[in-house]
Amino acid sequence: MRKCLSIFLIALWAAFPIAYPAFAAGPVIVIDPGHGGEDTGAVGPGGAEEKNVVLSLALKVAEILNERIPSTVLLTRTGDVFIPLEERTAFANRNGADLFVSIHVNAAVNREASGFETFFLSFDATDDDARRVAAFENRIVKTAEAKTDGDDIQLILLDLANTEAHHESSRLAENVHLSMLKYSGRENRGVKQAPFTVLVGATMPAILVESGFISNPAEEKLLTSKKEQGRIAEAIVDGIMGFTGTGAKAPGKDVTSIGKRTRKN
Ligand SMILES: [Zn+2]
Repeated sequence: MRKCLSIFLIALWAAFPIAYPAFAAGPVIVIDPGHGGEDTGAVGPGGAEEKNVVLSLALKVAEILNERIPSTVLLTRTGDVFIPLEERTAFANRNGADLFVSIHVNAAVNREASGFETFFLSFDATDDDARRVAAFENRIVKTAEAKTDGDDIQLILLDLANTEAHHESSRLAENVHLSMLKYSGRENRGVKQAPFTVLVGATMPAILVESGFISNPAEEKLLTSKKEQGRIAEAIVDGIMGFTGTGAKAPGKDVTSIGKRTRKN
């Protein structure tokens, strides 16, 4: 019965998007599966593409969130479509999101590199590795003709440094990361800061999760397994619940996206 209601609400939102927030209850959580469409993200040695792995993860996170807490879960895409980085945070701002979680998988030239790391925004990267990850995730901006240039980003970041959202992003990152530690036997690469374009301008706590290395053959296998995807998604949800202070299981509301419907490659 609840499923029917959800489907009805999704259909209604699709037809009348402005009316949608009237149904909101609990926090508005935007889950952002990275990349999509012509932007595959990182590609593993076995051919797995980041855009597909993170979409599966994000859908699972949304499903579990809906089961666990009263919330309005919005996805930036539910299909294989390209969405500019700046549009993803703009979507979260427009919808009055309380949280923004961008989901990615990592890649490195060294195929032995493994483990997970959680980022929040800062102009100064924590270290060279954090700088490398941000450069990789930002590179689509060049092909997508981003509206913001380096100076704009720096100004926004200086402003952001004093906002509560920034402080809370750090707390959200820690909660999600600790939960990932609990759920995963894999290497802990830590909570880090770096200048990710997709996090710039977010007016709510915003983080980017690198859920493992798709460039590592063993981790590529894990990341493409439904079982492991479920574990990672559980960990992310647990971290979000730790941050929001919600623990009780309760029915959720709705899942929808700004992405157009699935397009076959
Ligand atoms: Zn990515």
